[in-house]
Amino acid sequence: TGEPEGVLVRTSEDYAPGMKASARINATLLALVRNEELEGMLSAMDDLERTWNHKFNYPWTFFNEVPFTEEFKKKTQAKTKAECRYELIPRAHWDMPSWINKDLYEESAKVLLKNDVQYADKLSYHQMCRWNSGMFYKHPAIADMQYYWRVEPNVHFFCDVDYDVFRYMQDNNKTYGFTINLYDSPATVPTLWPETLKFIAEHPEYVHENNAMDWLTDKVRRPEHNRKAGGYSTCHFWSNFEIADLKFWRSKAYEDYFNHLDRAGGFFYERWGDAPVHSVALGLFEDASRIHWFRDIGYQHIPFFNCPNSKKCKGCVTGKLTDGESFLYKEDCRPNWFKYVGMN
Ligand code: GDP
Ligand code: MN
Repeated sequence: TGEPEGVLVRTSEDYAPGMKASARINATLLALVRNEELEGMLSAMDDLERTWNHKFNYPWTFFNEVPFTEEFKKKTQAKTKAECRYELIPRAHWDMPSWINKDLYEESAKVLLKNDVQYADKLSYHQMCRWNSGMFYKHPAIADMQYYWRVEPNVHFFCDVDYDVFRYMQDNNKTYGFTINLYDSPATVPTLWPETLKFIAEHPEYVHENNAMDWLTDKVRRPEHNRKAGGYSTCHFWSNFEIADLKFWRSKAYEDYFNHLDRAGGFFYERWGDAPVHSVALGLFEDASRIHWFRDIGYQHIPFFNCPNSKKCKGCVTGKLTDGESFLYKEDCRPNWFKYVGMN
């Protein structure tokens, strides 16, 4: 599993920090992160710089709803030759919208907690999910960017990747790249699919003819999985890793869809994550062939891995899970993606 075929591999000299803007793809590594997560961010940067970015020098853009500390700026910049940008999120992008009823939010959070929905009572978690769903791409600091690679603190990258993944996205007309597919807890998104069906009834023109509806609804799901949420299989691209074309999020279809969901209130009354929201939108409004599995990017966000079987990877543990961990297999729904959409 080397680079995908037909990839133009530039030399590292082509990607020197001061290179002409025209030669590098308009793209950034992107992290929403708190000052308190500095150590985890440095660790994730170490991995990604070592395995990939030191060859390409794409800039890093860090977002936060409070200003980054000088220590955060100094230590992150020291991890890379590339430019680092530190951006404040406007309050209008972060605050709970005016139409959300606070009492109802608090009542709902109690019910969600009873149903074991983690972080249901943590307002900032809801805000983070909403920002990642419908706000990050509106930040003026990335208005000129076309692609981004989302990185979270504490994630790991294991494999040397020798080609420019952003150029790969562009040359192969890809919109979205993922590594891991998982089922969600249905209690987090009970009305996401019903709201989605309302939306597409109003806007059938947005549904792509080569959509992944069968993947989203998982018609022939194995009986031991009873994890559907109102008709949605809950299978989603795990969005703590995503390499994507911002044009998709900036499209009229996605903007109308996000606004519909935002008004419906499920980012607060339920705990809609950006992963299912992104995945449902991609599965409906994008050509499924423009979604790419980066099998060659070894990745971990606890507790899940994407581990290629390759000499280019060090420390990626594909091995057997212990008995205590075997429940993790039930969460992986990558086979569904391959079953419904195929490997190409
Ligand atoms: P999980 O992966 O679902 O457990 O959620 P995380 O706690 O990893 O949060 C997802 C991402 O958002 C990570 O990159 C966090 O650093 C970031 N994040 C979460 N909440 C906040 C917040 O309140 N402020 C900021 N600045 N970043 C946040
Ligand atoms: Mn995380």
